[in-house]
Amino acid sequence: MGTQESLKAFNKAKDLIPGGVNSPVRAFSSVGGSPLFIAEGKGGYLIDVDGNRYVDFVQSWGPLIFGHRDESIEAAVIKAVKHGLSFGAPTEAETELAELVVSMFDSIDKIRFVSSGTEAVMSAIRLARGFTGRDDIVKFTGCYHGHSDSLLVEAGSGAVTFGNPSSPGVPADFTKHTLLATYNDIDSVKNCFADCSDIACVIIEPIAGNMGLVPADKEFLLELRKICDENGALLIFDEVMSGFRATINGAESITGTKPDIVTLGKVIGGGMPVGAFGARAEIMAQLSPEGPVYQAGTLSGNPVAMAAGLAALSKLKKNVLVMSVLNSRATRLVEGMQKEAESCGITMQIDTRGSMFGFFFNEKPVKNFADACNSDAQLFAKFHSGMLREGFYFACSLYETGFISTATTDEMIEDTIKASARVFKAITDG
Ligand SMILES: *Cc1c(COP(=O)(O)O)cnc(C)c1O
Repeated sequence: MGTQESLKAFNKAKDLIPGGVNSPVRAFSSVGGSPLFIAEGKGGYLIDVDGNRYVDFVQSWGPLIFGHRDESIEAAVIKAVKHGLSFGAPTEAETELAELVVSMFDSIDKIRFVSSGTEAVMSAIRLARGFTGRDDIVKFTGCYHGHSDSLLVEAGSGAVTFGNPSSPGVPADFTKHTLLATYNDIDSVKNCFADCSDIACVIIEPIAGNMGLVPADKEFLLELRKICDENGALLIFDEVMSGFRATINGAESITGTKPDIVTLGKVIGGGMPVGAFGARAEIMAQLSPEGPVYQAGTLSGNPVAMAAGLAALSKLKKNVLVMSVLNSRATRLVEGMQKEAESCGITMQIDTRGSMFGFFFNEKPVKNFADACNSDAQLFAKFHSGMLREGFYFACSLYETGFISTATTDEMIEDTIKASARVFKAITDG
């Protein structure tokens, strides 16, 4: 399997684009090697510029729940393109998509569309601050909420700390309102509220997907809800990744905890750039032009992107069983790989939620970011490159969640498990 063309493309890109990529996680830096340049996608497969074909477990980092080039999404996009790419004036497609999302999420009465998950979360935080009249926010170490300044905050070890920026270019003044807590550890949240009386909101990925797949415990979320209520703080579920991926009715439908604000992205655009945030009417009424909290976007609610999102979500809503089918495939995949790993003496922690799957090369269950960091990164890198050589495209970081689509067939899953057996054996044979 040659990858010369990818390498050539990468070298040229590096001359013009920092690191050769437009989003750092694509660069393969944590697993070694260089990224594949993609020529096309087809159902459950990716095809690179050298003509190699891979079973795709990344699915554009989540959005493509129906795989590449789903016929109904493709047709909806082409139809919309023929009416014009953008108007900067309202279209009915926006209301239709809004109606669909509102029908799926109990906690959302009204919604606003933006163009990325980052934008959705950034706007939701502003809204929470505007609504409560408070400045501070609580986030959890290991949860990712996009790259806006106040959310790019480093993990403080152990004790509650006011966050330090995790990137140069973010003034400490901008992150001094961000408090850090530990995922699945309610005492760490209590400490934040004990330290600070100006907390506008707690933001969490209820099914964390950016430290590997680490779902929050039900009990923990219930407690979190209680603490927010007692202190007049809002609870934000960042479901940019888990929304329409773990379940079609939001994490609230499987955890029993209702958030005040939900942020969405990825699947909601069916592969086009869409983000959204929604809440009950009273909160959304604070948003401009109804209320004083400013938020805007030239391409927000873009008609082509709305058409893709509408096609994807209406298909999901119509096929109520799709999530359980996807989940049994995802479960088969990680259980099969775990069994092969075990027979080579390798311990793997596995989990799934809907079409999301996660695995860690770790002796102990993973409940938070510190646990995730104790995983065997070298083993993951070997697994990743071994599977890639076999024709299976996994996310190039152990801190990412895997995704299957409706185009990921049972046969692809069985082939993946068989390939993993060869890869584990090669790794342990040294
Ligand atoms: C991907 C992601 C984001 C950021 O979305 P972008 O579209 O990449 O800006 C925010 N929150 C979560 C939970 C995500 O997974």
